[in-house]
Amino acid sequence: MKKKILFFVFVLLLLVATSICIYIFDDYSHKNNIIFYGGTILTMDDKTPTVEAMFIKDGKIEALGNQDQIFKLKTSKTELINLDGKTLMPGFFDAHGHNDLSSFLYGMTDISGFNHKTPAAVWKVADEKVKVTPSGEWIICKGFDPILTKGLHSPTIQFLDSLSPKNPLLLISQSLHSFYGNSLAFKKVGITNKTKDPTVSSYFEKDKDGNLTGLIAEQEAFESFRVEILEVFKKSLVENVTNVMFENAKVGVTSISTLGLSAANKNILMLYEHLSAGTSKPLYKFLELIGKLPERKPNVRHFIYLRYDAPKILIPESVNNGDDFYKILGFKYWYDGSPYIGSMYLKEPYLHSELTEKGFHLPEFHRGEALIKQEDLLSSFDFMQSKGFQIAIHAQGDNAIQEVVSVFEKLNQKYPIEKYRNRLEHCLLLPRELMPQIKKLNLTPSFHINHILYYGDALKNDILGESRSEKILPINSFVQQQQPFSLHSDQPMYQCIPLLLLNTAVNRTSESGTVLGKEEKISVLEGLKALTIYAAWQFHCEDKLGSFVKNKYADMVLLDKNPLLVNPDEIKNINVLQTFVAGKSIFFKK
Ligand SMILES: [Zn+2]
Repeated sequence: MKKKILFFVFVLLLLVATSICIYIFDDYSHKNNIIFYGGTILTMDDKTPTVEAMFIKDGKIEALGNQDQIFKLKTSKTELINLDGKTLMPGFFDAHGHNDLSSFLYGMTDISGFNHKTPAAVWKVADEKVKVTPSGEWIICKGFDPILTKGLHSPTIQFLDSLSPKNPLLLISQSLHSFYGNSLAFKKVGITNKTKDPTVSSYFEKDKDGNLTGLIAEQEAFESFRVEILEVFKKSLVENVTNVMFENAKVGVTSISTLGLSAANKNILMLYEHLSAGTSKPLYKFLELIGKLPERKPNVRHFIYLRYDAPKILIPESVNNGDDFYKILGFKYWYDGSPYIGSMYLKEPYLHSELTEKGFHLPEFHRGEALIKQEDLLSSFDFMQSKGFQIAIHAQGDNAIQEVVSVFEKLNQKYPIEKYRNRLEHCLLLPRELMPQIKKLNLTPSFHINHILYYGDALKNDILGESRSEKILPINSFVQQQQPFSLHSDQPMYQCIPLLLLNTAVNRTSESGTVLGKEEKISVLEGLKALTIYAAWQFHCEDKLGSFVKNKYADMVLLDKNPLLVNPDEIKNINVLQTFVAGKSIFFKK
């Protein structure tokens, strides 16, 4: 009898172990066998810009051509998909985003100028949130924006205390470069008027009597708040990460990027790898089984740049880490800040206007400054580049870009750097006279093009003035110089909508309809390339992604209209119907 029980227990354990093994080593199928036909297929490949049909096999493009040719490849297993006159094209890249920050902000109370046009509307939302939140709980509002919400001024700590007397309250600005807290928020993280500022450019603002004003400037000073809030939002963070990725898929994005990942440990990288990598890891599948990681399914690709000062534990052995679906490509630096708080670094001063004086608190003749010394940048670049990593550096102002380019020039005198395709991020005031040097060093800009749409009017009237704002974001100059560049929304700063980026690149109109830099408009085709094949080149994967060419991955987006044929004003109204990564549907519009 005892033997029988032992045998039964043994069989049961064997069964459980086998089931766990099957689960751990099982992954979603990468198989597919599909022919697309019956619509417009834009390849983004100059040799054959359009084809009639395309055959996808096991995630990759097997063949393209006319319908008769491709139909000959059909077998009994082939699924035929009639595009029904719609347009299929390569999936979009979100060339510069922040999944970590977007996930962090997801679900917070929105007070942005995109949705709230008057100060009263902003404070009403915050007030309503205070009323429904139990005493002592954190209230965090995102999107504070004195530019889009006309007349909104920086709140004082006394005002925030009266608004939220029983809850720690934090306002996060739309630019993510400044924050405002009430007294309880400062108390919660242990910051007093005696606390030392982390750096000269990142500080807790004090009034003339040395008391906190509520303003927290830049990331280093915000760090203790970030850690505290992360604790509060920990439970929903994993769900938020997958939600943000799905939002990307909904707008046709097949490859996302995180520029400057902040993390103290490897948990977030494990989560990202688990969600996007081409193959699953048994350890991660086990963690999925016990509910520590979410369910793995076909998802957007993810390319990561760590912060330049990332802890050692996050840094991979070499740039040959990950796979075609998930990879840490390099490191992100910041040379200057935002045009919307006065930390962009300019040659000529900011305009002295009501906005710069009262909204940003800038003294007259303010020009911003570099956030890091050139010699420190050079030695850090040298170290990263010697390990093969790509560099991406935030540079908005003309002086910032010029000094960054000169640091790359010095590095190039030590050894050639063109193979790295180092990236210049945002490039609001990229001086045209630097373009030959930028080309020689093979530096590649990613343009924050929707500065024109959302803040074009403020840049022209209040921040830069007419002559400088006509010169912003010189994308057509790069087309003329035949040098690849990409477009981005810097999500969560602006919502990630690739077709809206295309719209701005083509029309260059602000919200009020003003055109900024008419001669820098580009064609729809060049705009689409900036969102696909040029971006793939920036990510060192143009041989695998970004266009429809035999043997490349079948990352695709289905649109209801052909962007090349609609009126330029109609681009923003084109709908994304379906998104595929490696031939697998990751979003389908019902
Ligand atoms: Zn960014």
